Amino acid sequence: PKYVYDFTEGNKDLKDLLGGKGANLAEMTNIGLPVPPGFTITTEACRHYLRHGGMPDGLEGEIGEHLAALEARMGKRLGQADDPLLVSVRSGAKFSMPGMMETVLNIGLNDDSVLGLAKQSGNDRFAWDSYRRLIQMFGKTVLGIGDELFEDAMDDLKGEREDTDLDAADLQRLVETFKGIVRERTGRDFPADPRVQMDLAVRAVFDSWNAPRAILYRRQERIPADLGTAVNIVAMVFGNMGPDSGTGVAFTRDPGSGRQGVYGDYLRNAQGEDVVAGIRNTVPLQELETINPPAYRELLDIMATLERHYRDLCDIEFTIERGKLWMLQTRVGKRTAEAAFCIATQLVDEGLIDMDEAVIRVTGDQLAQLMFPRFAATAGNRRLTHGMNASPGAAAGKAVFSSERAVELAGRGEAVILVRRETNPDDLAGMIAAQGVLTSRGGKTSHAAVVARGMGKTCVCGAEELDVDTHARRFTAPGGIVVNEGEVISIDGGTGAVYLGEVPVTASPVAEYFEGEPAGDELVRAVDRIMTHADSVRRLAVWANADTAEDAARARRYGAQGIGLCRTEHMFLGERRRLVEDLILAATPKERQAALDALEPLQTGDFTGIFTAMRGLPVTIRLIDPPLHEFLPDLTDLAVKVAVAEERAGKGADDRDRRLLAAVKRLHEQNPMLGLRGVRLGLTIPGLFAMQVRAIAAAARRVEGARAEIMIPLVGAVQELEIVREEAERILAEAGVEAAIGTMIEVPRAALTAGQIAESAEFFSFGTNDLTQMTWGFSRDDVESGFFGRYLDLGVFGVSPFESIDREGVGRLMRIAAEEGRRTRPGLKIGICGEHGGDPDSVHFCHGIGLDYVSCSPFRIPVARLEAGRAAL
Ligand code: PEP
Ligand code: MG
Repeated sequence: PKYVYDFTEGNKDLKDLLGGKGANLAEMTNIGLPVPPGFTITTEACRHYLRHGGMPDGLEGEIGEHLAALEARMGKRLGQADDPLLVSVRSGAKFSMPGMMETVLNIGLNDDSVLGLAKQSGNDRFAWDSYRRLIQMFGKTVLGIGDELFEDAMDDLKGEREDTDLDAADLQRLVETFKGIVRERTGRDFPADPRVQMDLAVRAVFDSWNAPRAILYRRQERIPADLGTAVNIVAMVFGNMGPDSGTGVAFTRDPGSGRQGVYGDYLRNAQGEDVVAGIRNTVPLQELETINPPAYRELLDIMATLERHYRDLCDIEFTIERGKLWMLQTRVGKRTAEAAFCIATQLVDEGLIDMDEAVIRVTGDQLAQLMFPRFAATAGNRRLTHGMNASPGAAAGKAVFSSERAVELAGRGEAVILVRRETNPDDLAGMIAAQGVLTSRGGKTSHAAVVARGMGKTCVCGAEELDVDTHARRFTAPGGIVVNEGEVISIDGGTGAVYLGEVPVTASPVAEYFEGEPAGDELVRAVDRIMTHADSVRRLAVWANADTAEDAARARRYGAQGIGLCRTEHMFLGERRRLVEDLILAATPKERQAALDALEPLQTGDFTGIFTAMRGLPVTIRLIDPPLHEFLPDLTDLAVKVAVAEERAGKGADDRDRRLLAAVKRLHEQNPMLGLRGVRLGLTIPGLFAMQVRAIAAAARRVEGARAEIMIPLVGAVQELEIVREEAERILAEAGVEAAIGTMIEVPRAALTAGQIAESAEFFSFGTNDLTQMTWGFSRDDVESGFFGRYLDLGVFGVSPFESIDREGVGRLMRIAAEEGRRTRPGLKIGICGEHGGDPDSVHFCHGIGLDYVSCSPFRIPVARLEAGRAAL
């Protein structure tokens, strides 16, 4: 295979092979934008290297050829003593992993070529600064030397001075010190041979694919672990050649709100990584207009070209070398959820995309984020300061000052806000654990901002008035207010405000829109348009899981087209528990019937409320499912109570308690989830299901437009269903009520015998909670807090199968059941009512296997509607 592509050979669709950066550099090259020449080593070469621990055959030669061509084009050789070509070696995977992997700049400098660079540039200071940067980056990235050693050496030299105050002689001395650090730490000299530098840097970039922080980031972002990264070798251009040079980053629109305009940061006389690292403070990009008007105009032109070309928001990195603009990177930019919706509809209005595309450009996860509450009145809280509104949401928690502490406290269930001067990739675990992130340095393109936006985490960055002291674990706000670790603060990612104490939150306008408020601001109008279009294209219906009239009403407001699961068990709790106890304690048929007769009107009332809320829409009522002991007192508590009572002189235990204890012992099961529950209860407790069916029928008669469907849980064999159906049909006929009778498919045997079951079932609904539990043999109540963390680390699965459908296993059973069920009963209505019904990936799967509807909790309905629309496109 071909392992190396010149920028003129690639294009933006080759991200799998060239990585995002390489593919887009090629694209920009080919549409005529000013990109420094270079070439890309493919992800395939990386995968080979990682698999076999060495470079593939032929790669070395190919790199040599491309390097020679690059040298010919530039008219100078890599590291040539009198006029060196220098290159950068940059990572670039298919999916952007900001700051996670390595880059080495200024490859090609050594004791000779640094003099050539000084002469050619006429700038000694610049040449020595470039050389010390190379040794520092190379030392850290390739040789694994801790960066603090270099930083400390630099601080020692600087004393009270700024970076920019160091002169050429200072930097030359620093180079010697840095070389000494390399020698001391590795036992070898810093490699002077430019090609050796380059090859080692390439290997280091490959290796960085498996750096712990990269692994963690991929897991968080669900990026597959086996893609590998490409490596880009690019002719260096310099932003640190003096005041007419500089470097910057920009977005073609505001990634926070979607508003059009000029959004970016510019740093004069600096090299690329300085901006992203937030090391020195940048100026707003607009200032470039006065610093270098022609370059500014060219940049705006290029940004417009990129937006038209990519038909989307792009982010860019650029460098100006002695007045001349160079594009170093572009990609379709990350954005907040709010911006995603606004930009998608703006692009429609600008004629760049159509509504189908707009629906594809947003996600259910983004929509879910927009439904988060925001801060309510903040009057009661002291406003400490404000920073930049880098990533929206409202977050409150205890201030913590290190990633480790954030992880530790969050592990104990505490809400924390990670406070840092600036974050770096090592803070990732803490950012994941925290409710929000607050930094005192860095702009909207700083590491904290970019990563938080990607994770949908609330972030306020660049709150410069804060003095953050990580060692003392505290920060000081204006007015001398000191906030120590553990004190609660609140941050508003929408406005950038920081408050002392916990601020109460209010509903989001998007949530209110779904509650029926008219579409108001731009965001809500965008959501409205996109939802309307998604609804018009989706094939899957969206139903709700709702057990009460209130939930049903909310579900309906959110757009539910029916109730896919009304669990009846909660209706047996609370004050009614005593009636269930009576049922269980009944010694004679007469006593049992009396208990059932007492429950029936209550159930009728429950169903009446739900039918009323859902008038005209189907309501699937599931007959009682959980093991009966769940309605009885705890065995240990009760045993103690009885024993204590019996000990008391002259007074025996309450007779009811003694009988209850006997019942609890009788009903006790080692594996209640596999025990007497679901349809098995219906077949064992005479009259129980009949009572529920009578209540359904009575309620249906009461409510005009009621559309009842009766669903039997935990069926594994058609015979079970047949027995229940016979009795239910008789009751319905007597009442003169029509209701379809169907079953859940939640036991593997039901899926495997779905062809038979469909003879009796008028509809199927996949109970994927139990189906996952029983297919994997994982207890749904225990494993997620237990060994799943380990399983995720080991890569047994990338996401919990209780969260997103395991397509190969559980999904296969679903596919079989759907196919065989419909073979028996063409047109059989099939839905899903496990938690997966509101999970975006699972919605796409359900669409793919031809289900009729997904049913999910009321709050997930908008997400399911949107994803069902996206699945159809
Ligand atoms: C299921 O098992 O997926 C289901 C919806 O039923 P429950 O969660 O009530 O067991
Ligand atoms: Mg179930």
